[in-house]
Amino acid sequence: MTLPYAGKQYVVFTDFDGTITTEDSNDHMTDNLGFGREERRRLNVEIYHNRVPFRDAFRSMLESVNEKYTFDECREIVKKNIKLDPGFAEFFKWTKSVGIPVVVVSSGMEPIIRAIFANLIGEEDAKQLDIISNYVDVRDDGHFSVRFRHPESHFGHDKSKALRPYAELPKDQRPGILFCGDGVSDLSAAGEGDVLFAKVIPGGSNDLARHCDKEKIPYLPFLSFTQVLEHTRELVDGKVTLADLGSGKVPPKDEVIKAMKEKPSQE
Ligand SMILES: [Mg+2]
Repeated sequence: MTLPYAGKQYVVFTDFDGTITTEDSNDHMTDNLGFGREERRRLNVEIYHNRVPFRDAFRSMLESVNEKYTFDECREIVKKNIKLDPGFAEFFKWTKSVGIPVVVVSSGMEPIIRAIFANLIGEEDAKQLDIISNYVDVRDDGHFSVRFRHPESHFGHDKSKALRPYAELPKDQRPGILFCGDGVSDLSAAGEGDVLFAKVIPGGSNDLARHCDKEKIPYLPFLSFTQVLEHTRELVDGKVTLADLGSGKVPPKDEVIKAMKEKPSQE
């Protein structure tokens, strides 16, 4: 298999929900249309502690939504309510200008991601965006179920499978691999690339960052893509190396340190 971005200098892989957007669209559906936040958060904690596979918990969240809403209804609701990370549009524009591909790796369902993206960034970019995600089966009555990309994996979509073929390329073909994520669906990719950016919300649950703290995986926390852009631009400008960024040698941006000091992650 030829890899589309072999030979590029860098590739950015990014989670979609809660990373490119300010709120996770699947969480939004579960909390507002399905069994609610309390049960969803309980399951997230179970996933985090490896007591329930992400795949099974995620399926039950979406099932609770599907009991009452059709796929089209869900898509319209999230399209209306999900907002873009305030730094993403500028970051995305910059990556295009310097020729860095951006690949979305998501546990979400592709038509939902494209609908939200088209609404937030525009139809043209949404059509061209490289998305590696789960699928959805929509029945004749409009109700739906998620179809996992890697049903054999407890992640349902094992994100490491998108990154690893690049990591294993011969040196002259291997791009620098950057990954941005925020939550439990990103645990499969943590530690796979060269640089890991973990989104943090002051006072939030920040499951990916907490997992990395626990497992001693180096990462750079960010509040919005504004800081991802700053770090990546410094890399492209030769002010820092990939190894510096990936090893925790480069400190997080001041505004991130300040925000997290004022309101640390909740346990
Ligand atoms: Mg996420």
